[in-house]
Amino acid sequence: MTSDRSKRIKPSPTLSIDAKAKAMMAQGIDIVNFGVGEPDFDTPEHIKEAAIKAIRDGFTKYTPVGGIDELKKAVVAKFQSDNNLTYREDEVIVSCGAKHSLYNIAQALFGPGDEVIILSPYWVSYPEQVLLNDAIPVFVKTYKGDNFMIRPDLLESKITKRTKAMILNSPSNPTGSTYDKSRLEAIAEIALRHNIYIISDEVYEKIIYDDTKHISIASLSNELKRRTIVVNGLSKAYAMTGWRIGYAAGPREIIQAMTNIQSQSTSNPTSIAQKASVAALTGPQDFISLMHSEFDKRRRFLVDGLNSIDDINCLQPTGAFYVFPDVSKLYGKKTELRELNSSLDMAIYLLEDAMVALAHGEAFGDDNCMRISYATSIDNIDKGLKRIREVVSKLR
Ligand SMILES: *Cc1c(COP(=O)(O)O)cnc(C)c1O
Repeated sequence: MTSDRSKRIKPSPTLSIDAKAKAMMAQGIDIVNFGVGEPDFDTPEHIKEAAIKAIRDGFTKYTPVGGIDELKKAVVAKFQSDNNLTYREDEVIVSCGAKHSLYNIAQALFGPGDEVIILSPYWVSYPEQVLLNDAIPVFVKTYKGDNFMIRPDLLESKITKRTKAMILNSPSNPTGSTYDKSRLEAIAEIALRHNIYIISDEVYEKIIYDDTKHISIASLSNELKRRTIVVNGLSKAYAMTGWRIGYAAGPREIIQAMTNIQSQSTSNPTSIAQKASVAALTGPQDFISLMHSEFDKRRRFLVDGLNSIDDINCLQPTGAFYVFPDVSKLYGKKTELRELNSSLDMAIYLLEDAMVALAHGEAFGDDNCMRISYATSIDNIDKGLKRIREVVSKLR
């Protein structure tokens, strides 16, 4: 009855665990939720005020499909000052979230038989968006020993005549790793030589730690900028996930195609959310450093705690608000009632016996690991760590 296309996509692989955790919470069970994919901070007041003002002023009608000029100008200025990238307004589109920008790109670029390189572990929507647009996801594995950054020779070995694009996500969800300049240059060289597009998802650019610098791959050269579509958004940097504003910048023809596609699907993103986004991008930025220092404290606390548990091994991530510990040394171990052999077994064990909810690594393409979000309070993290330690100590 439903289309082939609709059958091609999997329901979200973390959904069943998530549903179970929610059902337990609804029963009043005290779950520590490490599954959260959004900042646990409120949207800053001046941003909310801008939206309220927009409503009062009657700014509640259709806007230009790809966003109001004022917001496009703010986005252009942001690329210039943060990323040293010069775009014109017709090289920018505002969409209903970065996820929607990514989807528009997939619609504008991919077709039957096209291969799209996805670095694994990956954000769960990349393969599904590729599949929904009749193209083929080609996975290239990255390893913990390389800080989850791609080995250039492995990347090159997966490129064929059908390779259309690769999707890059730095800082990364789920691994928290951030690409350094030399790795980006190696990727860039390969992409240029094989004439493939780079889709660069940079939604975590503001959430990076220590001496790490965010570098947009598009800024490495003009030649590369012409092969790259940069995706970013307001959700993660300004705690605005519910407002649904994201944007993309790239070659004018691609942005035009994306705008045409958007004009026949959603039309413009919400008018009042666009006004709020202007306030976010052009107003005071102090919220970001407050959120950042809180995340940084939690990150250190969580990583130290995890590494002090036997057989759990966790890298210190350099970006985003996730850690991606390797728990595979626990595989093969047992309790009286069960044996753990996969990240899913581990997630179910932690949920049922420790009342800790988290996402299993297999959902992101790496069955050795678990994704833990620290978009939750230090107290919760402390409680969750104690619970994990206790149930791990029961394994034989
Ligand atoms: C959250 C997230 C997005 C989507 O963000 P929205 O702007 O809310 O659509 C895109 N990519 C990654 C890697 C994310 O984690």
